[in-house]
Amino acid sequence: MAVFNVLTEYGGEAITFVHDAPSGLQAIVAIHSTRRGPAFGGIRTLSYRSQSAALTDAARLAQAMSFKAAVADLPAGGGKTVVIKHDGMNRQAAFHALGRAIERMGGSYFTGLDVGTSAEDLKALGAETRYAAVKLDFGKSTARGLVAAIEAALKFATGSASLDGRRIAIQGLGAVGSELARLLHKGGAALTVADTNAAVTSTIAEECGAEVVAPARVLATECDVLCPCALGSVLTAQVAESLQCKVVAGSANNQLAGAGVGRQLADAGITYVPDYVANAGALIKGVTEYVQGKEVGYEVVDRIGATVALVLERARKERKPTHEVAEQLARERLA
Ligand code: NAD
Repeated sequence: MAVFNVLTEYGGEAITFVHDAPSGLQAIVAIHSTRRGPAFGGIRTLSYRSQSAALTDAARLAQAMSFKAAVADLPAGGGKTVVIKHDGMNRQAAFHALGRAIERMGGSYFTGLDVGTSAEDLKALGAETRYAAVKLDFGKSTARGLVAAIEAALKFATGSASLDGRRIAIQGLGAVGSELARLLHKGGAALTVADTNAAVTSTIAEECGAEVVAPARVLATECDVLCPCALGSVLTAQVAESLQCKVVAGSANNQLAGAGVGRQLADAGITYVPDYVANAGALIKGVTEYVQGKEVGYEVVDRIGATVALVLERARKERKPTHEVAEQLARERLA
């Protein structure tokens, strides 16, 4: 696909191709919008089937970051970096080179972690640039924001935000899901959990008294809240039919396998919290600390609760699915 077609399709401002021959670095930095402030978005390190697939991924993810920042009402826009993983890449040297390139952008783009990039990679990059959220605990920030989202959605759906005595099912106990389990357990919720990694499920079962179910069964668990915290596209039309929950609120990106599923959930009376509204915790803490230069605690992400309430109320008033209302809000704020 031609470069400018990608920018037209996803509405981006700029694409930077970063090449460093000694380390083998091949990276694409996509800036979707700096209208509301510097672009913010992590680094995805993956092998791609083609360079054009990598370019499209960077542009699409940068747009999603802009929507996420706008819905959270942050003074920031969206960006994303894609590092094309290949055998000839010296990883440490590559991340140093990427850090130098991001430093040259002069603060118009701030970065952090995303799929396939490790804390060690970010550390190497952070040695070269001031514009990387190296000290941010992504999992903890996101999990705390999710709790605020869950409470707001419960208040909307049931009249009470209390977690006490609620049954909450979590799919995926990684950096976000395991921290989420701990916070919900502290709040008095009863947990049902699943992960493909048996070691993490037994840790959480022991720590939080959680019931463990097979990964294939967790989505259809009878519960108050279902939290998809593993993979994208888990909510297919078929899965939506089998849901037995009042609320869906999780961290996984792009949970809806198709836009029609959002409507299906609304028609079934299930309150779906759009993923990028619920999972903005790390972005909010990162922007506050790195873009605005303020030292803050995790409570800064609790404002997600108010955003969730705004989106859900508006969806009810306008009789629209929640994901449509979130996108509408983002586009209004970016206009
Ligand atoms: P992670 O890789 O640390 O954890 C994912 C977990 O899901 C792993 O424990 C994995 O074993 C498990 N898993 C994979 N397939 C599964 C399946 N079929 N059934 C059950 N469990 C399965 O990732 P994370 O950082 O915890 O993020 C979780 C999700 O949230 C991802 O989709 C991520 O893109 C998204 N997200 C994360 C953040 C963040 O701050 N970390 C922010 C926004 C969105």
